[in-house]
Amino acid sequence: MSNLKEKVALITGSSRGIGAEIAKTLAKNGAKIVVNYAGSKEAAENVVKEIIQNGSEAIAIQADVSRKEDVTRMFDQAIAYFGKVDILVNNAGVMLNSLIKDATDDLFEKQMNINVKGVFNTLREASTKLADNGSIINLSSTVTRTIFPTYGIYSASKAAVQQLSRVFAKETGSRGINVNCVLPGPTGTDLFLKGKSEELITQLASTNAFKRLGTPDDIAKIVVFLASDEAKWISAQNIGANGAMA
Ligand code: NAP
Repeated sequence: MSNLKEKVALITGSSRGIGAEIAKTLAKNGAKIVVNYAGSKEAAENVVKEIIQNGSEAIAIQADVSRKEDVTRMFDQAIAYFGKVDILVNNAGVMLNSLIKDATDDLFEKQMNINVKGVFNTLREASTKLADNGSIINLSSTVTRTIFPTYGIYSASKAAVQQLSRVFAKETGSRGINVNCVLPGPTGTDLFLKGKSEELITQLASTNAFKRLGTPDDIAKIVVFLASDEAKWISAQNIGANGAMA
């Protein structure tokens, strides 16, 4: 595994789920970590504690990624503390499923504000504040390659993340920054498991070739590779992380 010593990584939504695993795995590979959270202060502080106990450095910063002023403050606090940010992982996200005919304005706006505007807010900050030769990894989803009823708004938000990422890769490449999306399939976290029956979980897990749910660790290892210098020539790509589901 590559060595990320001397690199500083900011992971949005890393108090829980996939983001927490990405934070811990980047730290195991030598990176110093900014753990961002919206509301789960205690969970974020536990991730920080675990990283420090394992010999790396970390701080937790509260910021709602959908709010420009929060994201500006988060970057400035991270740079004031660690001196720079080299790796940005846009992981914060919400999934609120509904048939389009039943969806409220609130359900639409919440997903667009966190999943899309959140990524836009961080990319805009990164355009001047991410270090030269940095890396950006944005969490999209395999649902952009499927047609599941009730996933219309969520999958539209994740398709927008892909296109923002591809265009930003071209816009920021002159500074040596590469930008990619990772597209997890069903992964065992609150976001996926909440509200689903055992039967539905088993059915969705069986849509991939390995007949199991993805784990946060499956995803974190891919993010670590994409954050490494070895992955520099990969940019503007949408990388499925779904065990041959789609
Ligand atoms: P999760 O377990 O629900 O965790 C979501 C994380 O995002 C939490 O740390 C949460 O922090 C944070 N967050 C939510 N709203 C935020 C906001 N406005 N500002 C900052 N942070 C915010 O979700 P997950 O399953 O790990 O998903 C992580 C990413 O992978 C998401 O982008 C998701 O769409 C994508 N994904 C997941 C799956 C899956 O099957 N799990 C599949 C494909 C893609 P707080 O607790 O502090 O609110």
